[in-house]
Amino acid sequence: MQMLTHTNFSAPHLIGRLSSSTYKNKLTKELKVTIDANSGFCFGVIYAIEIAEEILEDEGHLYCLGDIVHNDMEVKRLQDKGLKIIDYDKLKLIQNEKVLIRAHGEPPSTYKIALENNIELIDASCPVVLKLQNRIKNAHDKGENIYIYGKHGHAEVVGLLGQTENKAVVFQDMNELNANELPEQITIFSQTTKSTDTFYQIKDALQQTGKNVNAHDTICRQVSNRDLELRNFASKFDKVIFVAGTKSSNGKVLYNVCKSTNEATYFVSSAEEVKKEWFENNETVGVCGATSTPLWLMEQVKERILTF
Ligand code: SF4
Repeated sequence: MQMLTHTNFSAPHLIGRLSSSTYKNKLTKELKVTIDANSGFCFGVIYAIEIAEEILEDEGHLYCLGDIVHNDMEVKRLQDKGLKIIDYDKLKLIQNEKVLIRAHGEPPSTYKIALENNIELIDASCPVVLKLQNRIKNAHDKGENIYIYGKHGHAEVVGLLGQTENKAVVFQDMNELNANELPEQITIFSQTTKSTDTFYQIKDALQQTGKNVNAHDTICRQVSNRDLELRNFASKFDKVIFVAGTKSSNGKVLYNVCKSTNEATYFVSSAEEVKKEWFENNETVGVCGATSTPLWLMEQVKERILTF
């Protein structure tokens, strides 16, 4: 019978172990990943989600008019806890229920429907949006010609337009305005999540037409301040992964800010969308996002990158 010596017993086992660890090290890209401390939910979104979660914990269900945040992954997390997303048609049909108004705010017509249907509105409209609604209403009451720089059909813009009995003009591009048809005196407001640079370009372009322009920069500082912070963040890394939902307005704006600072910026909505081939060995990677991007999602993205 062959004797088992120390050498012939342990060698194949050890060799197997050594080679698999060496093999793994060769495959790992050794990426250094940092999440931007300034990215993630703004206070308006945090407030709406906290209210929703409190009610869901007590009552197990809650209606919400429209997506609570423009991030499908976060919406799904809350739907699993009992949040029911409804549209205006459904709002007209329900009675004696609680309905959450999200941070974007709503036009006066929504409050009217709620009153008629005995619906208890849980109003999580962001204070910044409410202030803008008031300013637009006051300007409208004074008879000013109101132009809103914003995205057609966006929930916040619908709420702003409602303050003017839907009489204001909404535009998302200068090309939509015909200088010959503009009144001599115009008042401009901006949707809170638009680009500050573009807003001032529009103001200048309108003034060059000879019109008297009363421009109100009503872009939320949670967005415009991130502009600068993100430029600084994006410039520090070899690669930047920007995480946001495809429906997020400020996601598009802030992604473009990163991309203009660092060409190697990639947009993803989930961790699965991140591709290994985007990275070279030993690169530094910055992960950042919009005001509607949850921290847990950026952490999932980081975890996935670290497996490459
Ligand atoms: S981006 Fe600003 S205005 Fe919009 S919800 Fe957040 S804090 Fe409010």
